[in-house]
Amino acid sequence: MKNKFTILGCGSSLGSPWITNYQGELKKNSKNIRTRCCAHIQYKNLSVLIDTSPDIKSQFLKNKIRSLDAIIYTHEHADQTSGIFEMRPFFWKNKNKIPVYGSRRTVKALIKKYTFCFFPKHGYVPIMKPNVIKNNFKIKKKNQTLSLKAFNVIHGMINATGFLFEKVAYISDCNKIPKKSFDYLYNLEYLIIDCLRKNKHPSHFNYDEALELIKIVKPKKAILTNLHTDLDYVYLKKILPSNIIPAYDGLSFNF
Ligand SMILES: [Zn+2]
Repeated sequence: MKNKFTILGCGSSLGSPWITNYQGELKKNSKNIRTRCCAHIQYKNLSVLIDTSPDIKSQFLKNKIRSLDAIIYTHEHADQTSGIFEMRPFFWKNKNKIPVYGSRRTVKALIKKYTFCFFPKHGYVPIMKPNVIKNNFKIKKKNQTLSLKAFNVIHGMINATGFLFEKVAYISDCNKIPKKSFDYLYNLEYLIIDCLRKNKHPSHFNYDEALELIKIVKPKKAILTNLHTDLDYVYLKKILPSNIIPAYDGLSFNF
């Protein structure tokens, strides 16, 4: 089995179109239909999910993901976590608690918001086991091991986590990268990076800032994600150099 990374969702917090059918500057194009940001890593036999968006059930079904071994979280915001409840069938299927990984702050927030997933409540058994990560951590199943590095990024008023595995880095929510974290971003095959919109935003990179970062760290390929309703797929394709790709739901690559 080839190792495969899939963008399950590349939309901003409301996706596109919004629930009101507002679609801003987006033209009619299936690649402009964007669910909320999250991603999937298939590494050998290991199936690892990054974040549980509110769209997670349809994202799993659409991408035919039938197994789940672990979930890693970038941060605690609702657009990255509120699908957590949908994971229950994997607890039944695995006959084991689903291991969940995140920074100390993220794990603490998850336990507070979704206590029922981690502790018995109202007669329901907990389905997840929380793990606080340091800079390096491993996800294991039998003889398979995926080694990851976690690094800190600034996401407005909070710290979020970026992840590096093999030569792929994923940073879905970020407006600033601390100096220390830059070390993780050189010599990449793929950088998946937050690129919310045209104008500046207090907690996300905008288009110019995302491109500036790409210029500095020079990955072989960059993929722009967390796209808002002013960044049309065809428009982005037209203005971007060929090594920078606007994400769309279901975009995948082997690594
Ligand atoms: Zn966020």
